[in-house]
Amino acid sequence: MNSEDVKALKSLLDERQKIVIVPHKNPDGDAIGATLALNHYLNDTGHEAVVITPNDFPKFLKWMPGHRDIVNFEKENSRALDLLESATLFFTLDFNQLSRTGHMQSILENAATPVVMIDHHQEPADYATIQFSDTSMSSTCEMVYTLIEELGLPHHITPDIASCIYAGILTDTGSFKYASTSSRTHRVVADLIDKGVKNTEIHHNIYDSNSPDRIKLLGCALANLVVLPEYNAAYTTLNQDELDAHNYKKGDTEGFVNYALTLNDVRLAAIFIENREEGIIKISFRSQGDFSVNDLARDFFEGGGHTNAAGGKSDRSLAQTIAYFIALLDNYKTVLNK
Ligand code: 5GP
Ligand code: MN
Repeated sequence: MNSEDVKALKSLLDERQKIVIVPHKNPDGDAIGATLALNHYLNDTGHEAVVITPNDFPKFLKWMPGHRDIVNFEKENSRALDLLESATLFFTLDFNQLSRTGHMQSILENAATPVVMIDHHQEPADYATIQFSDTSMSSTCEMVYTLIEELGLPHHITPDIASCIYAGILTDTGSFKYASTSSRTHRVVADLIDKGVKNTEIHHNIYDSNSPDRIKLLGCALANLVVLPEYNAAYTTLNQDELDAHNYKKGDTEGFVNYALTLNDVRLAAIFIENREEGIIKISFRSQGDFSVNDLARDFFEGGGHTNAAGGKSDRSLAQTIAYFIALLDNYKTVLNK
């Protein structure tokens, strides 16, 4: 982390601040883990901090220390607006452009409040007063750990903070298997266990909270799998009727796309999920090796992310979106067959 930026943040935190911490819309384990960890740290060190999420977050994260204090912008709008208005400092975590906050975007854009960005996604937009952006980091949670360390107060990593950070690193590295998992990531995680993290319990809370509906929805996604051997690609789909038939709840489709990537020779995987209410198809992309799904999502699907994991959306129908996707693959045939 840039020492000038750390110094600038230190001097902001010398004064008691009223802080709002914001993750991206549809927050995942890293987004919730990082915002809650930072929230604990800031409150523990004398500030008045609160996490405001643009919308709800999945049930499999609703064990994290402090999750009950999270304010949902969609559901508790007037309270959220009051907190945003009276804040003296914003933190934005685990995203690289303000459009990722959905309906909170215009408020964050138009406020005169200083903003601190902490993020590990590629090509960060230039909106923050202090920008901590590091694409080499496994997760925003690993960055929060580093930041607390660099602020000179590592003893402030309490068991609660350690658990939130551990959960974010665990989920964003696919249980320590993605290329972003460094030896340092493992050292951080080892230290977190020393600091009181109950690692098997966290793993259980996150991955063993399946419902019969979710398992059957996975079965549906697996049955819909299409392999495109000429492109070393595979995709699957879930339409709104299929989601409704399985009582879809936020977070239920987490990880489904990874099954397509486990196929031998498949280097590019995608899942297309219909959202009739928003009139969009939400897409998750995954890749193996140096094929950049960040570029694919950014150039053609109004999204972005990382080289091997990215997301985006389409305003076309499910069938049209898939046809568009397959037509695009023709441009990448050589790269995908390398
Ligand atoms: P997922 O496919 O698991 O939703 O997301 C994979 C990665 O892409 C995550 O790092 C996530 O933050 C990012 N991502 C997902 N959807 C979008 C999107 O619509 N826009 C951008 N810029 N990033 C996204
Ligand atoms: Mn992340």
